[in-house]
Amino acid sequence: MLETIKKFWSPGIAGNPHGVCRRIALSNQLGIFGTVATIPYQLFYYFYDFAGYRGVFLANLMFMAGYLSVLPLNYKRWYNTASTALLINGCCQLFVVTCFIGTGAGVNLFYFSLAAILAFLYKRPGIRVYTAIMASFGVLYLITHFLFTADTVISPMPSPWIDVMYGFSVAGALTLSGVVLYIFRQQIDHAEGELMLSNRYLEALSNTDPLTGLANRRMLDAALEREWSRLVRHQEALSVLMFDVDHFKHFNDRYGHAEGDRCLQRVALAARKVISRSSDLLVRYGGEEFVIVLPDTDEAGAKHLGDQLRAAIERLKVPHEALGKEAFVTISVGVSSIEYMMPGIHACSGMTLLKRADEAMYQAKLNGRNQMVYHPFHMPQPQGH
Ligand code: GH3
Ligand code: MG
Ligand code: MG
Repeated sequence: MLETIKKFWSPGIAGNPHGVCRRIALSNQLGIFGTVATIPYQLFYYFYDFAGYRGVFLANLMFMAGYLSVLPLNYKRWYNTASTALLINGCCQLFVVTCFIGTGAGVNLFYFSLAAILAFLYKRPGIRVYTAIMASFGVLYLITHFLFTADTVISPMPSPWIDVMYGFSVAGALTLSGVVLYIFRQQIDHAEGELMLSNRYLEALSNTDPLTGLANRRMLDAALEREWSRLVRHQEALSVLMFDVDHFKHFNDRYGHAEGDRCLQRVALAARKVISRSSDLLVRYGGEEFVIVLPDTDEAGAKHLGDQLRAAIERLKVPHEALGKEAFVTISVGVSSIEYMMPGIHACSGMTLLKRADEAMYQAKLNGRNQMVYHPFHMPQPQGH
């Protein structure tokens, strides 16, 4: 049903961007509305006293044709011409009809509302142009109000019709404003919804490493800061685990960069499977280095996870023939934990713990790689001693 109705204001819409479509639809809708809204008045003139109202009736026929001309104009893609035709047609009708029957029936009020809405058809008019258009509508309205009183016009409305018509004019103006405001409200809600979605998407994108789909360094910095302040407040344990693919440069040299990327993806996936708690955060720290933040995890738990991780990568059995015929890709893991509060802890940060895990990993490399080394947390040594 709605789709059938929509077809009426669809001329010229196809193939345009969303925002332009809305403007074209609005101009088509107003063209149809202007025509339909004139019909009850025409019926009245025709059946009540056609001889007396012949002038206004014929003029209105012209204006109805003017409103309908918007549809073929939009269909031909003359959008600006269509909007201008609508505006001029509306204003002229306001003036001419009021000139015939006077202001008592409130026709000018109705058309003034219509004309004010027509100003929205233009592509973001500047504040000056907009003010000028509105001011001219205001002046037009005032002119009609004082010029076309019941005793000066050609075909004044008799009582009680003048009151009935006034009621219709007011109802029409209010309905028109209400409908247009509702449409705008809907469009604003729609735009807000789209904006929120794209914001969420961009936020996820800026926190994600494109190769592995893991969190990136931005997320790590935030997580370390958050977990460190939780540690200081609640005195829960905190561990950080860092691992790096062994001899990865040789891997790239042997198999090429693309195969190297695939290897990193497999390592990331395997690491993901080892992590069990949703609060643990696995991050691609850079290159072939990864970090896992383990909230509320003590030394024993972190060491266990480090061993599991090392074994899981070995089990992948990704060939690394640059190191030998039966060699596979391995990782070196460094772990550090803090489990109790020590004096001066407030001066440290999650970065201090990460640095300790990095040192432990370096030690694992020195010890011959493919192993896990644990370094307990300690305060950084003062510089220069
Ligand atoms: P080590 O065992 O001491 O870690 O040796 P390594 O060769 O792995 O260490 P190094 O840090 O010298 O080399 C890391 C290499 O990782 C260098 C770089 O070409 C490669 N690399 C870094 N990022 C990427 C990436 O995104 N994709 C691929 N394919 N290679 C990467
Ligand atoms: Mg490496
Ligand atoms: Mg490295």
